[in-house]
Amino acid sequence: MNILVLSGDGIGPEVTAEAVRILKRVGTRHAIPFQFEEGVVGGKAIDRKGHPLPAPVLKKAMRADAILLGAVGGPKWDTLPHAMRPEQALLGLRSGLKLFANLRPARIFDPLVDASTLKREVVQGIDLLVVRELTGGIYFGKPRGIRGKGKVGVNTEIYTEEEITRIGRVAFEAARKRRRKVTSVDRANILESSILWRQTITAVAKEYPDVSLEHMYVDNCAMQLVRNPRPFDVIVTSNLFGDILSDEAAMLTGSIGMLPSASLGEGKNRLDLPRGMYEPVHGSAPDIAGKGLANPLATILSSALLLRYSLGLEEPTMAIEEAVNKVLEKGYRTADIGGEGTRRVTTQEMGEAVQGEL
Ligand code: NAD
Repeated sequence: MNILVLSGDGIGPEVTAEAVRILKRVGTRHAIPFQFEEGVVGGKAIDRKGHPLPAPVLKKAMRADAILLGAVGGPKWDTLPHAMRPEQALLGLRSGLKLFANLRPARIFDPLVDASTLKREVVQGIDLLVVRELTGGIYFGKPRGIRGKGKVGVNTEIYTEEEITRIGRVAFEAARKRRRKVTSVDRANILESSILWRQTITAVAKEYPDVSLEHMYVDNCAMQLVRNPRPFDVIVTSNLFGDILSDEAAMLTGSIGMLPSASLGEGKNRLDLPRGMYEPVHGSAPDIAGKGLANPLATILSSALLLRYSLGLEEPTMAIEEAVNKVLEKGYRTADIGGEGTRRVTTQEMGEAVQGEL
């Protein structure tokens, strides 16, 4: 299995190094012949190659079985023109690999329940997954623009049956590996695009009789996520609604240093599974880069998602998640999640602790 590691800028190299060590350990234990290749993207690639996503790196990504990404960006490149900014590497990878599904799990680890801004009894036991459509909807729909003398701003929410079907299938497949429940979120009482969304998801559900489906309006979903989030398993929704709801769901769990993500596309790898891109939700955190302060758990949990979705390996995925839970139970904390009575560790020490548990 060929894994392309794009460590990026800031804390990216520190956190991906720990995730790669975990994958190597899993590889040895489960006899998975991993091959790690590296590529330079983001600010570093601008400095060395004059482009945030050099063409050979994109080519490597298109050949890889899965991609592990750190983060890109930093103040050094903030004044560059838009098309030359480090973040263009992410957009280039998403469109080059046709990554249409963004998966963001929000799970609260028991030892971190008190890091949430919500009450313990509301958040304890949260384990949900937001599946957001990533390449369609109002962010890309045409017509768009600001026009006319009296100035009118226009954007278009547009979805084809095909786009809804393929994201629906991702959600139902994911639910099969979880608690077998999908909540489809729309605004079908107001928007025609949502009516089609609801009809299409209902049709997809017939392919998955073992998974239950409920529909929910987006305003209600936003409320239920903070009122009673525990019953949610998989939430599937459009680009716009998913953008907002996935951030809301993420914040239920407390720290940005804990949140993994997976982006899946049309491309398949040699196992006929999605050639996904896996990355922490956080950015390159230039304020703490190179100091051993970064929490590597979001990236380690992203590597667990890589095993689940691009390699179809459920057991080592759960083993990593369990190992993370155990090190937290034992009180290991990087600075961002530290609290009284806990044991402060560096990025590398946290990675080693997870390896130890594995
Ligand atoms: P950020 O996520 O990098 O940092 C926000 C805050 O959270 C900072 O105080 C940081 O120290 C802290 N933090 C983030 N990750 C952490 C971790 N693993 N452990 C401990 N603390 C952590 O967001 P930002 O400051 O808005 O952006 C910094 C740079 O990252 C910018 O150049 C931005 O464009 C880029 N960025 C990149 C991505 C990506 O590559 N996917 C995503 C978001 C932001």
